Amino acid sequence: MSDAIENVLATCHCGAVSIRLPKAPTEITHCNCSLCRRYGVLWAYYAIADVVIETKSPTGTYAWGGKNVDFHRCSGCGCVTHWYPRKAGRENLGINARLLEPKLLAAADIRYKDSAGTGLFN
Ligand SMILES: [Zn+2]
Repeated sequence: MSDAIENVLATCHCGAVSIRLPKAPTEITHCNCSLCRRYGVLWAYYAIADVVIETKSPTGTYAWGGKNVDFHRCSGCGCVTHWYPRKAGRENLGINARLLEPKLLAAADIRYKDSAGTGLFN
């Protein structure tokens, strides 16, 4: 038995969407853009190839601005679960870190991104 892979699981409230991550995030992004501040999400970024997303029913999606990514939410409980790039070839996605166990969230550093202003991390 190897402990090399932690197999961290992020799940929505009702359990219809579960996302298997290769490891707990060390850094989480708090974004103040017009959408993220309304969703109240915190993002953890991963390579798409390292993440397994399982859905028991189709997720609802939303896109805005340049519509480069779809924001997914559970069709049952409504939790925002992740964003996924629309264009093939992009390598990363964002997971809503609020779906993780609180102790994993507490262990990560939160970076504040000022998307509504400078676009930079504070
Ligand atoms: Zn759900």
